[in-house]
Amino acid sequence: MKIAKNTVVSMDYTLTDESGEVIDSSKDGGPLNYIQGHGQIVPGLERALEGKEIGADFSVSIKPEDGYGVRHAERTMKVPRSDLPPDLDPEVGMQLAGEGKNGDPVPLWVTEVNPKEITLDGNHPLAGKTLNFAITVRGVREVTKEELSHGHVHGPGGHH
Ligand code: ZN
Repeated sequence: MKIAKNTVVSMDYTLTDESGEVIDSSKDGGPLNYIQGHGQIVPGLERALEGKEIGADFSVSIKPEDGYGVRHAERTMKVPRSDLPPDLDPEVGMQLAGEGKNGDPVPLWVTEVNPKEITLDGNHPLAGKTLNFAITVRGVREVTKEELSHGHVHGPGGHH
């Protein structure tokens, strides 16, 4: 079976940055399971997987535009510590929920902390980065109706 829209894909992956440093890998958590064709993984990787079959073993380099997007400098802001909730103990790398234009929660990452203020960045930490994936496809199957309506994979490596 080939990977196509509405197939459940199970894959091992290693993600490295431009300097070859490993950013993320399935080694610890086990294979990643997702439903093809629903934007559950970055667009460039979803495209590279389309049409592949079980056992496919390949590497792909994904530009920021097809990964986590380009960086937008205007999405960073400095916030005085006095404006933060008193129980918040900010640390670099921490993810906070900000409020977007429509009142929707948007993720913000703490990128700098000093005694007076913190820097928040609305860019994904991997925005602006070329992503190098080494992929091994472990499984391909048809999605179930239930999985499709929940928007996630069930069973081993999935929910429930
Ligand atoms: Zn479910």
